Amino acid sequence: MAARLMDGYSRVATDLRVSLTDRCNLRCSYCMPPEGLPWLPAPEVLTDDEVLRLVDVAVSLLGVREVRFTGGEPLIRRGLVDIVARTARLAPRPEISLTTNGIGLTRLAQPLKDAGLDRINVSLDTLRPETFAELTRRDRWADVVAGLAAAERAGLTPVKVNAVLMRGVNEFEAADLLSWCLERGYELRFIEQMPLDALHRWSRDTMVTADEVLAQLQESFTLTPDDPRQRGSAPAETFLVDGGPGRVGIIASVTRPFCGDCDRVRLTADGQVRNCLFAREESDLRTALRAGADDAELARRWQAAVATKRPGHGIDDPSFLQPARPMSAIGG
Ligand code: SAM
Repeated sequence: MAARLMDGYSRVATDLRVSLTDRCNLRCSYCMPPEGLPWLPAPEVLTDDEVLRLVDVAVSLLGVREVRFTGGEPLIRRGLVDIVARTARLAPRPEISLTTNGIGLTRLAQPLKDAGLDRINVSLDTLRPETFAELTRRDRWADVVAGLAAAERAGLTPVKVNAVLMRGVNEFEAADLLSWCLERGYELRFIEQMPLDALHRWSRDTMVTADEVLAQLQESFTLTPDDPRQRGSAPAETFLVDGGPGRVGIIASVTRPFCGDCDRVRLTADGQVRNCLFAREESDLRTALRAGADDAELARRWQAAVATKRPGHGIDDPSFLQPARPMSAIGG
């Protein structure tokens, strides 16, 4: 049998999240401080060729079937379209997706689609430009909305929208966001805020839980849960809205963790494998790669990195420690 990325609990990683940069053009308060972060020095960031080499090892030797590019903000990585095109030429061809804040999609959506991008998730937490400016510390709401429309026009459908609700900021926008997305044919996913902010200010009290989001939505919509057996390793619990065809998803990473079904593994922009968003250890593939390791050696190191994956993220354990890297540097 071909090699796989299997951990000690028999979970097999087939979904690779690749961070292409730790930089971002927004400063979302649940992710980064206003002044940004000390960015990775350029020589430490994998080159386009190095990214492709590692993605090729994952796809052709280790059974990875989906590659999602993220960041930081992946649209600000200069070589993105070429990286997507080259990923689409790998054998077996993986599914290729992108998580983005949408700024720049008016220019890039069609080239990305032409390069082979299959799916896109665009993050939008609010319908109010002034709340967006407060939350992201940048006045770019209209650019995101234009980017969403460009993704739709380019055929990157169904366009998915990710939203994080925060108390006192956008906590009562669940139903408005869902109506807005349904009108446009976008699939909305609410994500519970996780302890991955750079300033370590996350607290349960400011997190809006999945139950609260569902209660808000049920005041305006009839939600019918999809069959949980269809969910597989997908992080979202999904619901049919008002009998369909529209759907909404909730990613309850904190209150209803789905670690037992996790099939993800992450590669940071500086070439470190992380077997969990919340892992406290990383495995350095970049040094081995630059020292001349062959593909078999890289694959062996990658397998060893996944083998030690813990059974769960442990946010509820008294001993839980937030990882040193924030979400922007891990790749969300
Ligand atoms: N810049 C891109 C974007 O905005 O989608 C990709 C990277 S961003 C880190 C990926 C996703 O992670 C976004 O949907 C963002 O809202 C989410 N995110 C960031 N920090 C988070 C946190 N502390 N808890 C939950 N989601 C978070």
